[in-house]
Amino acid sequence: MDFNPADRIQDLQYFGEFGGVNPSISDSSTYTFLSAKTMFDTFEGNAEGCYLYSRHSTPSNLYLGEALAAMEGTETANVAATGMGAITPVLLQLCKQGDHVVSSRTIYGGTYAFLKNFTPRLGIETSFVDITKLDVVEAAITEDTKVLYCESVSNPLLEVADIKGLAALAKKYNLKLVVDNTFSPLNISPAKLGADYVIHSLTKFINGSSDTMGGVVCGDLEFINTLRNVNDGASMLLGAAMDSLRASSILKNLRTLHIRVKQHSKNALYLAQKFENDGLKTVYPGLQSHPSHDLFKSMMNEEYGYGGMLTVDAGTLDKANTLMELMQEKNLGYLAVSLGFYKTLFSAPGSSTSSEIPEEEQKEMGLSDGLIRFSIGLDNNIERTYEMMVSCMKQVGVL
Ligand SMILES: *Cc1c(COP(=O)(O)O)cnc(C)c1O
Repeated sequence: MDFNPADRIQDLQYFGEFGGVNPSISDSSTYTFLSAKTMFDTFEGNAEGCYLYSRHSTPSNLYLGEALAAMEGTETANVAATGMGAITPVLLQLCKQGDHVVSSRTIYGGTYAFLKNFTPRLGIETSFVDITKLDVVEAAITEDTKVLYCESVSNPLLEVADIKGLAALAKKYNLKLVVDNTFSPLNISPAKLGADYVIHSLTKFINGSSDTMGGVVCGDLEFINTLRNVNDGASMLLGAAMDSLRASSILKNLRTLHIRVKQHSKNALYLAQKFENDGLKTVYPGLQSHPSHDLFKSMMNEEYGYGGMLTVDAGTLDKANTLMELMQEKNLGYLAVSLGFYKTLFSAPGSSTSSEIPEEEQKEMGLSDGLIRFSIGLDNNIERTYEMMVSCMKQVGVL
């Protein structure tokens, strides 16, 4: 059988301390040892199954991590308090002073700011490239390059990375391929396509209720243990640990991810096709017109569709803002950043989530002022939603 991420989550079995159908929540920051020797061994990383201190690991966090590792098909995983709390330790663990990163130029604003403004202070330089052009990526690799970094579906332009092609480059030059899969959980399984480490912001689709933050890195046991090492592990030492209570609530939401992703995808495809037919400049990987439609298709786990994210160009920032305000007034969604909520969320990335990217560079990468990013919700009646959206668009002169 083909790899199916949701079946792998389904196949996990947990019991709580008293036979509960959910695992018990570990409500402790620290853990007792029966012997002083075991405590020493645990610090040295040699006591399997012993808990030390909750910044290192907790039973609840390990349950969530194992479920996410099953989903991505990696050996194990480490959860963090936020997506950035997963991304920054991975990059800092893989790179030291003098090292170089080749990154997609269309990535999450926070990741971009970290690589552009923060890591140069530590002597780590990054070349930002058009990730859809493998020859350009290869040309940017230097003797000092350690990491290839991209998002499977990029934020906010929905460019699709050729993960197999990038993995081949990573192998050729002995680099680590790190893929942020936040926009396409279940849709794409990067580790199965050759990525070394797969990262998610759990804040988005995976948790899906916009009530908490979280992050994860999925990978091999050796690297994940390195991140957690008490002496030099970036996750352990930078300290963005997830709280056990949150880990348990995210695990419960993870169980409905497949149903939600299918509905997000179905609704987004419906709207994208309609908008495009109406003559709107629409970007959605499920559209034939998307430059990477075939590539996405070749990588996807078919039944989960093309994801819940699409963009529409409203022409100008003014029109985009007026339209978003009107759609919110009509309760079609919320003018908010983030994604993966039951309700549609929309924002103009040029002036919000991607504002870290200088205007010049925004232009160069095709991020126009009037671009609206939609995270399409779980609407039961998407035809009705469409009719209402079109009426808003006509009212503000976008259509
Ligand atoms: C939101 C997001 C992040 C950052 O995650 P936080 O949970 O906000 O720290 C990283 N990458 C992508 C693609 C995102 O959408």
